[in-house]
Amino acid sequence: MNIKTFCVFLDAGHGGLNPKLKVPNNYTTYPSKCWQHKNSLFHGYGWFFEGVFNRAVTVLIEKYLKDWGFTVINVYDPVLDLALGQRVKKANFASSSFSGSLYLSIHGNAAASLDARGFEVYTSPSQTQSDIMASFLFDEVKETFPNWIFRTDTTDGDSDREERFYVLTQTTMPSVLSENGFFTNYKDALMMFDPVFQDNLALCHARAVVDYVKHLGYVF
Ligand SMILES: [Zn+2]
Repeated sequence: MNIKTFCVFLDAGHGGLNPKLKVPNNYTTYPSKCWQHKNSLFHGYGWFFEGVFNRAVTVLIEKYLKDWGFTVINVYDPVLDLALGQRVKKANFASSSFSGSLYLSIHGNAAASLDARGFEVYTSPSQTQSDIMASFLFDEVKETFPNWIFRTDTTDGDSDREERFYVLTQTTMPSVLSENGFFTNYKDALMMFDPVFQDNLALCHARAVVDYVKHLGYVF
């Protein structure tokens, strides 16, 4: 099977920036999915906007996947916070045109405890193809950032966590959601804001897709 017939649906979580407005009102998901760190700048006046981070990483994943011959369809909007139903519907509708497909949702994490840090990857409950992709992603991220914190649930024999998130249960193709650091934690936020980190993180996601499709028998 040729890799061009495999489609990756990319979903950058939440909304982006409205270029016509000023910080923090230019963030279309404000006041949720963001955090203000005093004494730092981030996306403006200390605000870290998750949706902006998600988009920065997702654009890089798209670049790598296209360079390597995959078909990529973005189900998110660069600015607007599209409803999850719209995103999933777009992917489910388009997927019938391809020999195989995968839904990848990119997020940053938040917690009431500002000490919480690290990486998590989610699939729907029970063992499916999504768990195979999640394991490849987990391994790529762990290999690239060995000193980071990895928040796993190994009770079912693999490292991914399982939740009934809409984009994991309503998609008709294998679907994985990654939580790439806690923007509420200053140390993680600094790392997440770094373009080198974003690039390496994107490379992990793109490499995991390659691992996954090779496992399915696709050739390059
Ligand atoms: Zn999110």
